[in-house]
Amino acid sequence: MKLNLPSPVQEIHSPLYLEKGLRVFVKRDDLIHPLISGNKWRKLKYILSDAQDQAKTHLVTFGGAYSNHLLACAAAANYNGLNCTGVVRGEQVKNEILDKCAALGMRLIFVDRERYRNKHQIFKELFEKDDQAYFIDEGGASEEAVQGCEEIITELHATFDHILCAAGTGSTAAGILAAINKQELNTRLQLIPVLKDGDFFNQAIDKYAIPDTSFELHKNYHFGGYAKYNDQLLEFIIDYYHQHEILLDQVYTAKLVFGLDDLIRSDFFKPGEHLLWIHTGGKTGLLGIKEKLIAKAPEFRQILEEIL
Ligand SMILES: *Cc1c(COP(=O)(O)O)cnc(C)c1O
Repeated sequence: MKLNLPSPVQEIHSPLYLEKGLRVFVKRDDLIHPLISGNKWRKLKYILSDAQDQAKTHLVTFGGAYSNHLLACAAAANYNGLNCTGVVRGEQVKNEILDKCAALGMRLIFVDRERYRNKHQIFKELFEKDDQAYFIDEGGASEEAVQGCEEIITELHATFDHILCAAGTGSTAAGILAAINKQELNTRLQLIPVLKDGDFFNQAIDKYAIPDTSFELHKNYHFGGYAKYNDQLLEFIIDYYHQHEILLDQVYTAKLVFGLDDLIRSDFFKPGEHLLWIHTGGKTGLLGIKEKLIAKAPEFRQILEEIL
């Protein structure tokens, strides 16, 4: 498995940043691997080594029909010669992501939303007799995931006044905060929750016993909730690609960078500060809105075709 690590950091230039006297950098975790998107690799790293230590050869995991995590697991299992089952939430569907998972050797099992709620129960029922089976929670959420995400910070050579990150379950953010605290950095973590209910993050903080020091939640950039988006966000994705040749996805990173630019415009940051946002990957999510994107920007047809 060829991984682009440590992931590169690059500066983003824009008239807005210049005008406000800010320097903005991005950590390109999206470039770690084409199928194992950014933070999903970070999260899987120690999960995979734990499975290996326990000599487990069958990864079993969970996700929605467009899950970045399912695809990452399918690819990681494939490259490591492991068996893999993906339990997919909801009725049986077909899409490019799930097709790719299957092509990588993942066995797909669809379960209805009610039953999906209890993942440990599903695991028990389906794999009770399989002593090779190894449970990986949805999105990879685990202590190991937090440990892996600490490396987003330990890989850095420079320090930043603010680090910005999108938050789903908050485990990536928990890892970043843990590393900031261990290294006693003065960096502040600015989090953009991508779900409507921003309180989930305090649960992650509690769950992983992270001291809740220097972070702030910016709850105005969820665009209606998880995986919700509007024309404004689509246009932002298109413009951003044209200006910086960086693809953002509508579920996570576009909300983050939209929020970042909005915070900059409203003078949230002080002139002279250095900011770093984490590109956690996720471009395969764009395949879920392919038609809409192409309708707005026909040149995206080719870009999207090259994603998988
Ligand atoms: C899964 C994912 C996230 C969310 O990470 P959490 O650790 O759940 O907060 C952010 N960005 C991308 C691209 C993702 O795929």
